[in-house]
Amino acid sequence: MKKIPATLSDIFTCARCGSCCQGETTVSLDQDDQERMIAELGLTRQEVEEKYWRVTGNVVQMKIVDHHCIFYTENTGCTVHVGRPWRCGQWPLHPSMLADENNFLTIRESCPGINQELSWEEFCRIFKQLLEQEDKLLC
Ligand code: SF4
Ligand code: SF4
Repeated sequence: MKKIPATLSDIFTCARCGSCCQGETTVSLDQDDQERMIAELGLTRQEVEEKYWRVTGNVVQMKIVDHHCIFYTENTGCTVHVGRPWRCGQWPLHPSMLADENNFLTIRESCPGINQELSWEEFCRIFKQLLEQEDKLLC
């Protein structure tokens, strides 16, 4: 029997609560993230660095303003969506949830966008199917 394709909304629909953009630190940006963000903002590397990044040695993160990422606004959410770091695009579907139910429960608790009705087993079945279907799974 042919397998019915899974859709992202089976396990996740962003509630746009903004909580993953809050806090005193952000994900770090790898080299590709940095280039994509620079291109999206249409500024020079130096300008982006001065205005938006917190650079500590080799680690590049986004600046924090009022306890949230500098790109977050209450009305529009992420203002650099296309140029956001890949880890932001991956969230909350972190592969660690497949390995450990506690990781699943912890992440589900912090993200209301995850389908709260699914058991861990059912969530993993759909998540694995999505990973097989997509080259790059972005939320
Ligand atoms: S990914 Fe989750 S925590 Fe982040 S805005 Fe969407 S629902 Fe909220
Ligand atoms: S880049 Fe966008 S999605 Fe990532 S933390 Fe900042 S506001 Fe949130």
